[in-house]
Amino acid sequence: MYYGALEAGGTKMVCAIGDADKNIIDRISIPTGTPDQSLPAMIDYFKKYDISALGIGTFGPADINPNSPTYGSIMRSPKKDWEGFSLYKAFTDALGCLVVVDTDVNAAAWGEYLYGALKGLNSGMYLTVGTGIGGGIISDGRLIHGMEHPETGHILIPRRTGDDIPCRFHQSCVEGLASGPMLERRTGMKGKDIPADSPVWDLEAFYIAEALVNYTMCYSVERIVLGGGVMDNKFLFPMIRNYYTELLSGYIDMPQVKDTDTYIVPAGLEGNQGIIGAMNLF
Ligand code: ZN
Repeated sequence: MYYGALEAGGTKMVCAIGDADKNIIDRISIPTGTPDQSLPAMIDYFKKYDISALGIGTFGPADINPNSPTYGSIMRSPKKDWEGFSLYKAFTDALGCLVVVDTDVNAAAWGEYLYGALKGLNSGMYLTVGTGIGGGIISDGRLIHGMEHPETGHILIPRRTGDDIPCRFHQSCVEGLASGPMLERRTGMKGKDIPADSPVWDLEAFYIAEALVNYTMCYSVERIVLGGGVMDNKFLFPMIRNYYTELLSGYIDMPQVKDTDTYIVPAGLEGNQGIIGAMNLF
């Protein structure tokens, strides 16, 4: 028996096959073109293995409410070709198997919770910092879904004095101020080319720390995992931890938040959290 997983991202579609124990035994990556361009290759791939179920972690915003008539659809999106497209319907029609859809960051949080840096905890968060910023939250052993799904990248955070570059979205949201494209706008350089001693990293760490303090305050998570391309710059971790401690100001008197080395950590599954989580959504 085989299972399937799809991590549907803005630039690539990662498809994987799991064995009966959901161990990944094969994977492919397909560029994210239009649905017409990328769908047939994905369907062919999953058909080859005659999978019994498919878990999808998709870019959002997406309708992930199983009771909704548009379950599994991409909602309003900068990717106009995908707006309104139902991943659930496309794969259910083509494969005839169980299909479960959640967001990419919820899948990643779930992967980290089952097998990665959140394993053994009752609550935690996964936040990706890259082209976009978004996260999934585990509370009492379950992913938080709510009305749609949390948009943790779009919480509003106080701007640091002197930073007057316009936010890309909501005047002062964390994605608008601290995502990869904003780093490029601030420096005129690609993220990977920005030197480690650039002052922009201090501002970046400050904004991420502000967001993390808010997540701790709202969700009381026991640990926060940071992933995504920007966080490949590992020197950011100690900078974020320092600002986190400063901004939290000792208000939460719990051992978890006092040991920021174990509270704010890199992904345990090293980039595989999304696909492993998607494989375990059903
Ligand atoms: Zn925003």
